[in-house]
Amino acid sequence: MKSGAILAREAADQDKTEIAMNNPIPMPELMSLPCYRGRFAPTPSGALHFGSLIAALGSYLDARAHAGEWHLRIEDVDPPRVAPGSADSILRMLDALGFEWDGPVVYQSQRSEAYAAAIERLIDAGRIYGCDCSRKLLKESAIMGVDGPVYPGTCRERNLPLNTARRFRVPATRIVFNDLLAGRVACAVADECGDFVLLRADGVFTYQLAVTVDDAELGITHIVRGADLLASTPRQIVLQQALGYPTPTYLHLPVALNDDGGKLSKQTLAAPLRDDDPLPALLRAAQFLGLDLRQETGSLAEFWQLAARVWQRGKLPPLRAKR
Ligand SMILES: [Zn+2]
Repeated sequence: MKSGAILAREAADQDKTEIAMNNPIPMPELMSLPCYRGRFAPTPSGALHFGSLIAALGSYLDARAHAGEWHLRIEDVDPPRVAPGSADSILRMLDALGFEWDGPVVYQSQRSEAYAAAIERLIDAGRIYGCDCSRKLLKESAIMGVDGPVYPGTCRERNLPLNTARRFRVPATRIVFNDLLAGRVACAVADECGDFVLLRADGVFTYQLAVTVDDAELGITHIVRGADLLASTPRQIVLQQALGYPTPTYLHLPVALNDDGGKLSKQTLAAPLRDDDPLPALLRAAQFLGLDLRQETGSLAEFWQLAARVWQRGKLPPLRAKR
């Protein structure tokens, strides 16, 4: 079996080929078009913590190492998950850490029209149906899939009015994509997730829909994010295909675990970062991503100069086998 590093190197070579093929003629007026546009998309459910710093740093360095743009998107599509003030606190912390983003910050809470338009297109294509299954019923009737219970298709042929939850009719095709670290990933979304909800009965657009629409409409070419989202990627690709969007290049980064083996997150109260002394956390995050810069950097400016220069996908630690 090939190591993660070899897979990542092969994938990186393939990635270059794809970019070269997308830009076959080096015409001067095309030179300014970015062939790499990355993003970091935190959920503002609390302060930026070490786990999300890893995703921010990995996506930033990969973008800069490829002369790409790096955009910020606040994923505040689900109001109950938003902690007041935390979007601003995340932006302030990223600024204090020395991240420099391109263009304006995008807020999902301001993009409802784009999500509604995508839903309309899917309704016109016959890809959406109404579902009034209760949470209790879903739990009882479903088998467990890659990311929670598999929806058994209870409402598929019921022709319910579209004033309930709007569910996406997943095709029976198998989704296969090449992750730059995980390698080849295959998923039969219909069997492993089932039809999934795009608009909840309470009027909230779901994460899968918002992310897919945003990444496509904002022209994101490379998605570098934590491997906790690897299970979501096939659903996003199946939606991209239904909406006629291109599929970006994916790199899912290893996720930092706490001492109990659980994911570091705001829920497990990972220690907040310090904006008055940002270098130690940046150095730890860089080390986690395979870059040991501790001996060579004494200032933020030195850190960013060196980190962008030495970033290599091939140095990333392998993903832990999970599932
Ligand atoms: Zn249903």
